[in-house]
Amino acid sequence: MIRTVLGELRPEALGVTDSHDHLFFRSAVLPGQELDDEAAAVAEVEAFAAAGGQAIVQWTPYGLGRQAELLPGISTSTGVSLIAATGLHRREHYPEGFVDKVRDDLAEIFVRELTVGIGNSSVRAGLIKVAGGFHVLDAHAELVMRAAAEAHHQTGAPIAIHHELGSAADAVLDLLVDELDVHPAAMILGHLNRFPDHRVHLELAARGAWLAFDGPSRANNATDPQLLDCLAALVDAGYADRLLLGGDTTTARARAATGEGPGMPYLLTHLRPRIERHLGAEVAAAVFRTNPARAFAVDWRG
Ligand SMILES: [Zn+2]
Repeated sequence: MIRTVLGELRPEALGVTDSHDHLFFRSAVLPGQELDDEAAAVAEVEAFAAAGGQAIVQWTPYGLGRQAELLPGISTSTGVSLIAATGLHRREHYPEGFVDKVRDDLAEIFVRELTVGIGNSSVRAGLIKVAGGFHVLDAHAELVMRAAAEAHHQTGAPIAIHHELGSAADAVLDLLVDELDVHPAAMILGHLNRFPDHRVHLELAARGAWLAFDGPSRANNATDPQLLDCLAALVDAGYADRLLLGGDTTTARARAATGEGPGMPYLLTHLRPRIERHLGAEVAAAVFRTNPARAFAVDWRG
């Protein structure tokens, strides 16, 4: 079952999915660009729904302004399924001292948010979001990943990984899969478009994890022109059934409905038709519908 903010959903009911995005997000490194406005979030979800979108996976972790209590109302009013996250981001996204206060309790926090609710709400998280470092795993990344593995083993929740500039996914698999015994099919490797090396992507796919790419945005401008080539290389090698795509809208400016965009709907209005034209309708259906239904479905324990 997929754990949405309205409860558990059969995987086949998930539908057309943005596999990595943000409705609410507040980071110390993005001052003035907070996603904290409910009306703007609703407008973006409505624009996504108007383009045929049916589900959004929000990768905002613990302590970054998730506003979980608002998510059920937004899901109900728009008809779009929402999946919330627990987990922890890289240290620099938090105010000074924040991480040190919770560093010894992370696994407990993640499990509580997956099984009881986020904050004071009864909205349960459906995935654990963590973050690696640039080309290596620093001490913070390792601490968070060990806690995530513990929470995964207790609950079954998938682990979604922010890779800094798309790097160090091999080190993440070394730690989580080889050392901490997480099944690679429970891992979603994010931002791989930011490190558009086909050989690296093929090696990661061969290890059995999900490969997640971000749709076009100003943040991905340097790698946007290589996105289709990255997907094509993986499809040609037989990995169409491992691919996920998300908008990863992290700033107010990047929204379609209230900013400059291209935002969430662009995935479906522009990117999906290009995938259909160049890689085939079957690949597009896998990326937007059948793959997310498998990647976020869990045999929940607790
Ligand atoms: Zn993100």
